[in-house]
Amino acid sequence: MQDQYFKSYEDLEVHRLMLEDEPRTNTYREAICNASNLFKGKVVMDVGAGTGILSLFCAKAGAKKVYAVEASSLAMVLPEIVEANNFSQVIEVIHGKVEEIILDTKVDIIVSEWMGFYLLHESMLESVLYARDKYLVPGGLLFPNRARLYAAPCSLQDLWLKKRSYWTESKYEFDLSPLLLLASQQSAPEIATIPTEGLLSDPQLLWDLDLNTVSQSGLQSFSDRRFFSVESEGPFHGIGLWFTCSFPPAGEGEDPPELSTAPWDEETHWKQTVILLPTEGKLEEGDILGWELNLEKDKDSRAYRIEFNVLDDDEPHGIPCSCGSAKCEI
Ligand code: SAH
Repeated sequence: MQDQYFKSYEDLEVHRLMLEDEPRTNTYREAICNASNLFKGKVVMDVGAGTGILSLFCAKAGAKKVYAVEASSLAMVLPEIVEANNFSQVIEVIHGKVEEIILDTKVDIIVSEWMGFYLLHESMLESVLYARDKYLVPGGLLFPNRARLYAAPCSLQDLWLKKRSYWTESKYEFDLSPLLLLASQQSAPEIATIPTEGLLSDPQLLWDLDLNTVSQSGLQSFSDRRFFSVESEGPFHGIGLWFTCSFPPAGEGEDPPELSTAPWDEETHWKQTVILLPTEGKLEEGDILGWELNLEKDKDSRAYRIEFNVLDDDEPHGIPCSCGSAKCEI
């Protein structure tokens, strides 16, 4: 399972997708390169270096030493990339899982791009926290250092028709609609773009993670029950989830640089994650919509089990939508 995960990162198309994601890569570049006062003369670890792009930003920002840790076989090409950019004196490539490498020094800064769909998919944050606890000096910096998960009810007619209506339409003149429930229980969360007009209420902040303090055990499950005040009427098809990450600001009083995957910001390769309901609801302006959302780390994979229930008079009703992970691998 683990090896399959790292194998998927041998595929350069995956890295190209990330490099071509300009909001993602430019936010890291700006957060690092505009903070050369924080990087100058510092020892840095890049957890999951991939093509080495973040290590190069750190070297450019003036780091004294950058340990580029990469578990996949891409690590074998990394020294050539380092050489081609004249940073052999600064960047040292370490081929291995950050949990297994041997490094007898601490670092001042850890940079990493660990985020997956709905923030936590892939569970790579656990590796960053492992590196933080083992290698970061007290008071050292994490890039990014804060992550927030948001949600809003949404209306997504096209997606819903494509994914759910199939089972409600007659098949060879017979009704197979009892399969709808099973189909929705078996389906993975959808990675989709939510048009802003599809948002039925203001989003709410579900989870605000301080990466300096969160523990690995704090990532195993997450439960939330909340109420949304509906602001636009429309068919209700599910909830949209997205995240933001922010970085230490370069100077005191400055705003922290932020990478946003919100529906109203420039699209990233994460898009948004949508958990579709099995049946269409109808919401009116002023309605109060309650729901329960549970995320539980799957023991056998790097994904989470997601359960979503609409509350009816404070009681869960509707159908738990248990979403697997199959479609969520990048
Ligand atoms: N930093 C690069 C790549 C990010 S993708 C960029 O921003 O473009 C995440 C990378 O982390 C993948 O290449 C993956 O193989 C690597 N990775 C994930 N978990 C790791 C671990 N535990 N140890 C080392 N590398 C890891």
